[in-house]
Amino acid sequence: MWLYNSNAAMKPLAAAWILLLSTLAFAEPAWTQDADRTWITGVTIISPDDLTHIERGSVLVENGRIVKIYRGETPPKPEGATFVSGKGQFLIPGLIDSHVHLASVPGMSFDETHRVSAIIPEYYAQLPRSYLYYGYTAVVDLAVLDRKVLQDFRQAPLHPDLYTCGESLPFANGYPMSFAPPAVRFKVFPNFIYDPKQASSIPPEYRPEDHTPEADVARDKRDGAVCVKTYFERGFGNDRNLPVMSTDVLAQIRQAATKQGLVLILHANSFEAQKFGVAGDVDVLAHGMWNWGNLRNEAELPAEIKAVLDQVVAKKIGYQTTIQVLQGLEAYFDPNYLRADDISKVVPKNLLDWFNSPDGKWFKKELGNDNTPDEAILKMYEQGPVRHVRRVVAYLAARDADFLFGTDTPSSPTYGNVPGLNGYLEMQQLHKAGMSLEQIFRAATISNARKFKLDSEMGSIAQGKIANLVLLKKSPLESLDAYDSITTIWIHGKAVRRESLAADSK
Ligand SMILES: [Zn+2]
Repeated sequence: MWLYNSNAAMKPLAAAWILLLSTLAFAEPAWTQDADRTWITGVTIISPDDLTHIERGSVLVENGRIVKIYRGETPPKPEGATFVSGKGQFLIPGLIDSHVHLASVPGMSFDETHRVSAIIPEYYAQLPRSYLYYGYTAVVDLAVLDRKVLQDFRQAPLHPDLYTCGESLPFANGYPMSFAPPAVRFKVFPNFIYDPKQASSIPPEYRPEDHTPEADVARDKRDGAVCVKTYFERGFGNDRNLPVMSTDVLAQIRQAATKQGLVLILHANSFEAQKFGVAGDVDVLAHGMWNWGNLRNEAELPAEIKAVLDQVVAKKIGYQTTIQVLQGLEAYFDPNYLRADDISKVVPKNLLDWFNSPDGKWFKKELGNDNTPDEAILKMYEQGPVRHVRRVVAYLAARDADFLFGTDTPSSPTYGNVPGLNGYLEMQQLHKAGMSLEQIFRAATISNARKFKLDSEMGSIAQGKIANLVLLKKSPLESLDAYDSITTIWIHGKAVRRESLAADSK
């Protein structure tokens, strides 16, 4: 997440959520094909670790793992294997979205969630299927807010592999805990970093020694996290001048994360924040740089910003561009967004109907004043933050930076970031901004896997890896439409027909 727009929008009281979610009912299982042994043959194999050798071949899957890959000549079908002809189709590794927030419902603040709670269980049951529908077989939740939602996700009959950064590390009273009322913010963000200068505004039950960078990172490690997320954000809207951490504190987090073997991610969307993160050797910058600060009116990419981006490239810092964060806000001013057919594939009808109702548009009122025409607001976004982030992406793309595909779904209480589809839309934004099809493909597969140290398990089509695979009618190296031409998804070797995963399939 990068934004909670008002106090009303930020009351995720964990207990109430758990009550709501305890009624979670699972949807009918999708059409699946249980096979201990599968033989996918006659297919064009596209694996991001070697894009110079793209050939037709066959893949043998056994007990959820890839056991053999044949390129070129194909041996006869192995005994007892389920035969799948991939003739005329393309096989890629499952996609990875390394920035999601599973426990937030698009379009809803806590208040709205409460009011229309009957449709929430339906949304959560569809959630893992919507990611799979667009080929995402692994996701990373960057800030655990509600363990029950994650548990249910993992227990769903079909779901992407889920990794987390545990509870995030906001600086005391800083972003994003500042958006929760003072009375609850320490309960909602118990893994905050203590700031002795603010001792008078931190409840006494939180002892400084329990909230050092080292203690916080260790807590995430014990929690099974693969990464740690912290923030550098001075705020926006009515919440500006928020407290931010010093270089010293970031250095302590860096040291603790290295010691625990966790990937360090910094929320940073401004020039100042990314400069801070680069100097502090973070592993990943979560967000594109759409806030240029005092340089915002510069027509071209300023030299100061280029210097920081050069460091991003030189230090091989993972870069999650998350342009859909901005599109998610634009969605309220774009008359076509909710009309897109794709949304009904990933959002249950009742929730979609609510998005279309006057109640469902509450967030629009928080984003713009009523007197400004929608087109004018769209123009403001396009000429400001969207223009900035596109310039930055183009610069990094030309230098082949270590892009990591992450969508930040949903990034705010917006209905403009829906699971699965948001990834497809983010890819279109990346391409428009100047990333090549190959760069997008690598970012969503092997680059994510390597950065999060998951590459022994996923990220390419290689012997021994989990059989998370996607079969497409088109090549993702020829057009982005390919990602919407999926026919079958294998999750741990289990085949699922794409259509059976759609929210409107039954
Ligand atoms: Zn986020």
